[in-house]
Amino acid sequence: DAPTQRSTSMREFNKSSKLDNVLYDVRGPITDEAARMEAEGQRILKLNIGNTAPFGFRTPDEVIEDMRTQLTDCEGYSEARGLFSARKAIMQYAQLKGIPNVSMDGIYTGNGVSELIQLCMNALLNNGDEILIPMPDYPLWTACATLAGGTPVHYVCDEQAEWNPDVADIESKITPRTKAIVIINPNNPTGAVYPREVLEQIVEIARKHQLMIFSDEIYDRLVMDGFEHVSTATLAPDLPCVTFSGLSKSHMVCGFRIGWMVLSGNKRCMKDFMYGVNMLSNMRLCSNVPGQSIVQTALGGHQSVNNYIVPGGRIYEQRNYIYEALNAIDGVTAVKPKAAFYIFPKLDVEKFNITSDEQFALDLLHEKRILITRGGGFAWPEPDHFRIVFLPRMGVLQEAVEDLADFLEHYRQR
Ligand code: PLP
Repeated sequence: DAPTQRSTSMREFNKSSKLDNVLYDVRGPITDEAARMEAEGQRILKLNIGNTAPFGFRTPDEVIEDMRTQLTDCEGYSEARGLFSARKAIMQYAQLKGIPNVSMDGIYTGNGVSELIQLCMNALLNNGDEILIPMPDYPLWTACATLAGGTPVHYVCDEQAEWNPDVADIESKITPRTKAIVIINPNNPTGAVYPREVLEQIVEIARKHQLMIFSDEIYDRLVMDGFEHVSTATLAPDLPCVTFSGLSKSHMVCGFRIGWMVLSGNKRCMKDFMYGVNMLSNMRLCSNVPGQSIVQTALGGHQSVNNYIVPGGRIYEQRNYIYEALNAIDGVTAVKPKAAFYIFPKLDVEKFNITSDEQFALDLLHEKRILITRGGGFAWPEPDHFRIVFLPRMGVLQEAVEDLADFLEHYRQR
């Protein structure tokens, strides 16, 4: 009949070729399979996304109360960069961390750090410009750099050195096209917290080769065991720096979509970049205003996250448990995370005959209904790693690890 005929002659709409090399596996084919199984009525334990609220982590009451009382004032757009009160609080936070040369016009709020990563990559990169990104990475950096036309060049973080960046590898990968370096500290997926000396060496390389520094510090308030978190920008007052953080993780409000970035250091040399950032920021009008409205209370108020990351606290105890329990499994080793809520264990590929980490993740999903993220999702080149989010309560985690051990006891990949 006529309507069908017309629709069969319709041309096909393919995704843009800009997406050809873009990978974002934290939500990808394996998560789609998990969703399909869930739709069939199976219960899946999701250890794949750092989403705190579903695991019972709560934001301080005062933050919710603050949003409630302000909600009716948040109906309009804010200034593109963000509310004055939010940016003032972010400025004070940045100053307390020792970040030099911060001013109100260099602070932008975003719909999570995610939006600002994309915005910066679009503002900076021309086709073929290279940007150094850690490996393993938080995959949004690689995806956004690629989508912007840039070429992500991955530098190794060394498992043998507590997952700290391999400074020699960074230097060896610099070319005349290298424009910037991304540092993720504290790190997702490894939980590493970089020592000051390592950061100083990276900054020295950036100085020598005139690179812009992007430092993703969204986990800076989730550092355990008394390790010091050094904001990279504090070591680079003479370089163009952009520091990212937000409330998703520290205040357990991933769903509110509120993050920020702070431009600091040498602003003279990034005038034109700032012009681009402004333009893109104006084009998105503003970030979610209710999210912005709580920044002042959240940053200045009760830091309930502190109770989670000390002995007796959930994140601390769950971290200790998962670290010990994974290392007790024959064929699995893992470095102890110092921050955040991820662990990036290594599998003995010979023992398990693993050639595909995607197949490993699928096999575990099908057999034990546990969803993890394969190492390849973090630009890790070998099939020997995967990431676990250790946010579920202890009992659930224990069950998950027992299931994993049981699964691995007989596992040989075909
Ligand atoms: N950066 C890192 C390292 C992350 O792990 C995440 C989220 O997991 C983000 C940025 C994005 O956070 P959001 O967009 O919620 O601020």
